[in-house]
Amino acid sequence: MTQYSTDLHDLTVAQLATQLRSRKVSAVEVAQHFLARAKDSSLGAFLDLSEEVTLAKARAADARLAAGSAGVLEGVPIAHKDIFVTRDFVSTAGSKMLAGYRSPFDASVVSRLAAAGAVTLGKLNCDEFAMGSANENSAYGPVKNPWDTARTPGGSSGGSAAAVAARLTPAATGTDTGGSIRQPASFCGVTGIKPTYGRASRYGMVAFASSLDQAGPLARTAQDCALLLSSMCGPDPDRDSTSLDVPAEDFSLQLGDAIDGLRIGVPAEFFGEGLADDVRAAVDAALKQYMALGAKLVPISLPRTELSIPVYYIIAPAEASSNLSRFDGVKFGHRAANYTDLTDMYLQTRAEGFGDEVKRRIMIGTYVLSHGYYDAYYLQAQKIRRMIADDFQAAFKVCDVIAGPVAPTVAWKLGGHGNDPLADYLADIFTLPASLAGLPGMSLPVGFGADQMPVGLQLIGNHLTEARLLNVAHRFQQATDWHNAKPVV
Ligand code: GLN
Repeated sequence: MTQYSTDLHDLTVAQLATQLRSRKVSAVEVAQHFLARAKDSSLGAFLDLSEEVTLAKARAADARLAAGSAGVLEGVPIAHKDIFVTRDFVSTAGSKMLAGYRSPFDASVVSRLAAAGAVTLGKLNCDEFAMGSANENSAYGPVKNPWDTARTPGGSSGGSAAAVAARLTPAATGTDTGGSIRQPASFCGVTGIKPTYGRASRYGMVAFASSLDQAGPLARTAQDCALLLSSMCGPDPDRDSTSLDVPAEDFSLQLGDAIDGLRIGVPAEFFGEGLADDVRAAVDAALKQYMALGAKLVPISLPRTELSIPVYYIIAPAEASSNLSRFDGVKFGHRAANYTDLTDMYLQTRAEGFGDEVKRRIMIGTYVLSHGYYDAYYLQAQKIRRMIADDFQAAFKVCDVIAGPVAPTVAWKLGGHGNDPLADYLADIFTLPASLAGLPGMSLPVGFGADQMPVGLQLIGNHLTEARLLNVAHRFQQATDWHNAKPVV
């Protein structure tokens, strides 16, 4: 049963699925292999593991493989960002507020992947309620970047990116509200995609900013992301009213198509002051590679790029302040032990349960939504949000996809931004615009910058063009080897 050609953890999802289907290896063997790696790791990527639960799921997968009723991902281990609620594992969303919380149901994305045969390996660390860019806002400690354990893996899906990069899991789910799949993928040298807003159901994703939150996969290759995303997406009208009424799609269908004549828009605003030289060099080299593959570079402008920071940091906290009002010590999660009356119970519970960044955002959000400030901040931000979306539509008249850096620098040192939340916010500048416009965006590894830290290229497509976007990344990965580089951990 064990004639796999290479270490199991070096196989891609596609390769693993093939080995499992041809029964060269069993789902239980695969699960045991990854469980052992996850347990041994000191990166802090996993928040919950259960050998018993995972092996039971693997045995069920083996039974389906034996019976010939296997799904496309049958037996492939997948770990979930702790923002997704799961019945069989604790779901904390990186917060003390939900310490030890067990959900009575699985998130739609989790149950869809399970229906395709994926075996849940465990839950992955993330910033508290997905608020952050460095995983340092997790109540359960930061995750370490496997390329340099003194550095951040990025955030908020830092556990997902680190676990995939360190081969603790073949793939992981993440969520992206303002960059939380793309930026950690870039910082850890893996591939990740955030689909069009509404593609994947938000049911069972602990809500941060509902008009922005989207689920997506992180894996080593675009091909694997296509495979996973195909199982994750599709309408969910009864449970998420913002899920798009477009049928589930096979995002692998365009993989391998030629990209001759593809028009790649290069936004001037993504290459200005503030972009570190090492990131610029790796991104420029990737663009040259695309030209060698037959693509044409088209200079474009996204003139309101800078405004995406104030706009996002008004809209996201506004929605968060409303979403997080449910954590009041009554329905679920933490409740303070000592209080005098009901109001005091709310106050003590929330003071104890939430971390500093979450409190900061609840205060900002409440402020910008309050009478007298709503027009000046929230409404204004919504108007500019629309203009940012319009700028993309103007750009897509002259190009097919947009390419640029994911972040201005490579992963910084843990603690490197000190106590300065603005430094984190500013580093989101290149991922926020696509989020505000609801567009699909991805990151693929395209080289290394200073201190041998990975650099990702961001690709942004128009609404519902994920299949093309994934092929554009796939063509690059067929011609280069960056996605195969692995950290020594
Ligand atoms: N870094 C951004 C924030 O802190 C984005 C987070 C995300 O996409 N979840 O809000």
